[in-house]
Amino acid sequence: MNLEFTPEEECFREEVRTFIAENYPVEQRAKQNSNASLEREDYLSWHKVLARKGWAAPHWPVEHGGTDWTATKRYIWTEETARADCRPLLSFGIQMLAPVIYTFGTEEQKQRFLPGIYNGDVWWCQGYSEPGAGSDLARLSTRAERITDEDGKEFYLVNGQKTWTTLGQFADWGFFLVRTDPDVKPQAGISFLLIDMKSTGVSVRPIVTLDGGAEINDVFLDNVKVLVRNRIRHENQGWNCAKALLVH
Ligand SMILES: Cc1cc2nc3c(=O)[nH]c(=O)nc-3n(C[C@H](O)[C@H](O)[C@H](O)COP(=O)(O)OP(=O)(O)OC[C@H]3O[C@@H](n4cnc5c(N)ncnc54)[C@H](O)[C@@H]3O)c2cc1C
Repeated sequence: MNLEFTPEEECFREEVRTFIAENYPVEQRAKQNSNASLEREDYLSWHKVLARKGWAAPHWPVEHGGTDWTATKRYIWTEETARADCRPLLSFGIQMLAPVIYTFGTEEQKQRFLPGIYNGDVWWCQGYSEPGAGSDLARLSTRAERITDEDGKEFYLVNGQKTWTTLGQFADWGFFLVRTDPDVKPQAGISFLLIDMKSTGVSVRPIVTLDGGAEINDVFLDNVKVLVRNRIRHENQGWNCAKALLVH
């Protein structure tokens, strides 16, 4: 077995190394080195540099922005970003949600949501855990009732509480597991909804941790109206999306 890198791979390594040296955001590097707390834009600056270069999501399918690198090139990329102490991109959009959207979403959902994730323009948070549903996630009780208004528009009315929502204070949107059928076995009555965090009825309350930080949050949903078109996959089939997401 030949474990040497090919000349082309060595060339790629040099390209990556030079790109990082010339483009890693200077302010972010300074904050990392001094262990300063990061603002919203600090989390996104490297992401945006990579998006402009076309390297924000190497693992995505090429038609959505992936790089089609070989496993060796991905290895080199990982090694070089670690060597240069580059901050990993936030995982919620790029790693977790995007594969669910490009695997299960409609064409309209792919067009609407993937570019914002890729470019780092839309910050996503994860609304899975609840005070009574952590390890036993399928017990979640945040309720989404389907309603049609006078104009014939279909939406869900969502009520409940999520917890441990990492960096939810910065989020523009969240992916949420909600109960759409309480009368079947727990896993069979869950749907996967995308919720605009600016919707009326969404509130985010920080949970201050022992170190004084406030990276995690409670999220309260009080009669939040969510259009049915923001549901991924069929109603009551959210558990499959939930599991597929956790694979990533
Ligand atoms: C820093 C941090 C960030 C997080 N961010 C997010 C986020 O962004 N979004 C989100 O949705 N969630 C988030 N979580 C939640 C995380 O996924 C949950 O903490 C996890 O699902 C466990 O749930 P729990 O904390 O309620 O613990 P519990 O389920 O109450 O478990 C407590 C303990 O009991 C054990 N236990 C539970 N059930 C059993 C059993 N049947 N048999 C034996 N032992 C058992 C567990 O192993 C654990 O040790 C975050 C958590 C942390 C700590």
